[in-house]
Amino acid sequence: MAIDVVPEREAVLARTSSPRLEPFGYVCHRCLRCCYHKGIQVNPYEVARLARNRGLTTSEFRAAWTADGAGLVLAQTESGACVFLGSEGCTVHPDRPLVCRLYPLGRHVSADGTETYSHAELHPQSRGEFI
Ligand code: SF4
Repeated sequence: MAIDVVPEREAVLARTSSPRLEPFGYVCHRCLRCCYHKGIQVNPYEVARLARNRGLTTSEFRAAWTADGAGLVLAQTESGACVFLGSEGCTVHPDRPLVCRLYPLGRHVSADGTETYSHAELHPQSRGEFI
C-alpha cells in the first residue's frame, strides 16, 4: 500500500528520488496561515496521541474532533481553520500529526517502499520562506 503524508489539496511542486541527500530549508514565521483549508489526515497512532492530549478515549476524540474527508481528517471551523489552531498557534503542538511536523514537505512511500518527498505549495499570503 502506498502512503502519502501530504496536506490534502496541496499542490505538489516537485518530487525527488533521493530526498535525504538533497538540501532543504524552510523558515516559518508563525503567520498561522498554513493551518487553514487543509485536510489533515490522521492515522490510528496520531488519533491515540491526540486523544490522550485531550484526555479522551479514541472514540470520543474521533466523534468530537474529526470529520470524514479523504480518510479520517481533523475537523475545521467555519472559517476553515483546523480545530486545534489557537491564537498563538497549534494547541496540540507536542502531539500534532506527522503531516504538520513535516510541512511544507510531503512524504510519499510507494508500494515498493520507495520514499520521496514533495514541496507543498504555500498559502499565497504565507510569510514562510523556502531558503
Ligand atoms: S494540528 Fe496543529 S499544526 Fe496541524 S493543522 Fe492543526 S493547528 Fe495546524
